[in-house]
Amino acid sequence: EWVDLAEVIDNAVQKVDLKARDKGLTLTASLNRGSAWIYGDGLRIEQVIINLLENSVRYTEQGGISITLDQTDRFVYVIVQDTGIGIAEEELPYVFDRFYRVEKSRSRQYGGTGLGLSIAKKLVELQGGEIFVRSKLGEGTSFEIRFQREEEGGMA
Ligand code: ATP
Ligand code: MG
Repeated sequence: EWVDLAEVIDNAVQKVDLKARDKGLTLTASLNRGSAWIYGDGLRIEQVIINLLENSVRYTEQGGISITLDQTDRFVYVIVQDTGIGIAEEELPYVFDRFYRVEKSRSRQYGGTGLGLSIAKKLVELQGGEIFVRSKLGEGTSFEIRFQREEEGGMA
């Protein structure tokens, strides 16, 4: 099915907004609407985005979370960015591994199973996309999901 990523993001944001507000965090969406269509499974992409947003809520104590939808000639991309506790550089290569959880003390404090991101990565790749992470300990984290843009006219 053809899915409008702006709509997928709207749905995901709606589902996580209350959790963010309960924690005193702002959740802002900045969406370049209209032409970010991709061919894939909308519900799965929504699941991935919810996952990233929930991680951001869980691992952020103050500030906020933003989600951006934008595109270039070649790619459509979604970025989820937070002002949370961040991830140390040496741990970054492992965050998509199954059951990997950064730092044991942190895991006890925050709960979770360490499966979320490994599933997210699988789902994104099944849709032909890629996922990247950038982070700075104590400053925040951003995850980017990127899909190749379809050829013009492909969506007739
Ligand atoms: P689950 O999602 O299965 O409930 P989880 O959140 O611990 O558990 P993942 O979502 O796979 O597992 O994330 C792996 C680890 O990466 C987390 O334990 C956490 O330490 C770190 N992490 C993920 N997202 C963020 C983020 N936005 N900010 C800081 N650390 C993060
Ligand atoms: Mg998680």
